[in-house]
Amino acid sequence: MNTKAIVLFSGGQDSATCLAQALSDFPSAVEAITFDYGQRHRIEIIQAQKIAKIANVSLKIIDLSLISQLTKSALTHINIIIEHKEGELPSTFVPGRNHLFLSVAAIMAYQKNCTHIYTGVCQTDYSGYPDCREDFIKSLETTLNLAMSRPIQIHTPLMHLTKAETISLMKKLGRLEWYKETHTCYEGVRPACGQCPACQLRLKGFKEAGVQDPLEYFGTATDLVCDDPLKS
Ligand code: ZN
Repeated sequence: MNTKAIVLFSGGQDSATCLAQALSDFPSAVEAITFDYGQRHRIEIIQAQKIAKIANVSLKIIDLSLISQLTKSALTHINIIIEHKEGELPSTFVPGRNHLFLSVAAIMAYQKNCTHIYTGVCQTDYSGYPDCREDFIKSLETTLNLAMSRPIQIHTPLMHLTKAETISLMKKLGRLEWYKETHTCYEGVRPACGQCPACQLRLKGFKEAGVQDPLEYFGTATDLVCDDPLKS
């Protein structure tokens, strides 16, 4: 296979949508990479492997445990509480994460003579992460072009979409069933808790999109979702 696009793939809903978009743009010419950076929930990596298998895409897991050695974030340290105090970045912010991820993806792309990188960053539901903003992505794209003398293009198909619009895009791409295997829950459990802020945000997105979330939840969480199933 001649790789034309590399997708940053975390095993979450957004990156799964990016994977579907990349495969639509470059059928049978996509590879995915997942970073092991000591993230709170190892289950994300397991789910990423499952989705890559379903998508019939090669997945490379790259060790970036260096990040958790360098940073103190709620995403990499279980003893730090997930919170977002006013006027501060969320405690889940991992400084330099997207910068490093995209730079590693660009190195991999260079080796494969491929110039397209996909990432699911989004500034619409701005979560306070500066490295999800379009300004940063454009700036890094320029930097990578200068660094490697290659026309590396960073695709951000979700940049200006709401969660509901992302779900609608996945529906259009015909891969809604992949969402069954994506991981969102802050509690790191499957079936998902349905109560934590991440689950609630996910359910709200599905409700707004008028689509049933194929993910399994504990208890009554699915009551929050609209009744339009996966059809059509
Ligand atoms: Zn949850």
